[in-house]
Amino acid sequence: ITNSIGMEKAALHEPNFGGNERKYLLECLESNFVSTVGKHVKLFEDELANFTGAKHVIAVVNGTEALHVALLLAGVQEGDEVLIPSLTFIATANAVDYCAAIPHFVDSDWNTLGLDPKALRDWLKVSTDVRSGICFNRNTGRRISAMVPVHVFGHPCDLEGLISVSNEFCITMVEDGAESLGSWFHGRHTGTYGFLGTLSFNGNKIITTGGGGAILTNDIGLARHARHLTTTAKIQHPWEYIHDEIGFNHRMPSINAALGCAQLEQLPNLLDSKRRLFKRYRDSFKKVGQVKVFEEPEGCSSNYWLQ
Ligand SMILES: *Cc1c(COP(=O)(O)O)cnc(C)c1O
Repeated sequence: ITNSIGMEKAALHEPNFGGNERKYLLECLESNFVSTVGKHVKLFEDELANFTGAKHVIAVVNGTEALHVALLLAGVQEGDEVLIPSLTFIATANAVDYCAAIPHFVDSDWNTLGLDPKALRDWLKVSTDVRSGICFNRNTGRRISAMVPVHVFGHPCDLEGLISVSNEFCITMVEDGAESLGSWFHGRHTGTYGFLGTLSFNGNKIITTGGGGAILTNDIGLARHARHLTTTAKIQHPWEYIHDEIGFNHRMPSINAALGCAQLEQLPNLLDSKRRLFKRYRDSFKKVGQVKVFEEPEGCSSNYWLQ
């Protein structure tokens, strides 16, 4: 690519539409079902479940809203504190704020670039009390209801360490896997360890639906509630409009899901090429002093998203 002053530049990330994108988009248009009731939504969700190993996948309009709804389902309430890493995209903090909760920024670990379970445990030990299964911040008096590890640049956090902190201090874990589709921690896909996990399919992510996101869970009750809440909380009925809570119009349209189906088919190849690129960078930077190339943590497989 050449920029406005005629200099060559390499895009940080650009989408790749080399597969069945046009075919599936046309199929979707010809079916006339381009909105959330079209068949491609279920197809995309099933294929994502297959790929990630999550039992249930709910496709939504973007990764930010996936996280917002996941936090509500995790029981985050007004005035709560939610632990998030300081090294992340703003959406993680925004989603907390949408719940009228307070983002509480926590330090990151050099080895994973994600939440540091050791530093977190040390801090929680001296600064919180757990009373009747609820963790309170002694400095503010507020409840700490959730933690949101982010798999930064697709590199998996130390999920084992974080799960143990989450259990010890009764803080629900919701994974922000927006950057980590195609990344595994100890053989299991990121986003499937927490109470809930989320993905993003924005134009700059490893695959895209134009705009989109997903909620992952292994719990059927949570999955039903996520689907309900993101479909305006309407009770299914042929003609009556009864909504039993304040819901959201957050389901992914079929036209976006059609694009996603084609993108997902190419994900394994994309992951291979990202890994090849990573190796080239690593080898090239060997010759440069004072530069450390970040490698996936041991036992993990990173999608090397931004390579
Ligand atoms: C991209 C991203 C999001 C938000 O996803 P959108 O689909 O853009 O709303 C959330 N968290 C992180 C870490 C991201 O990189």
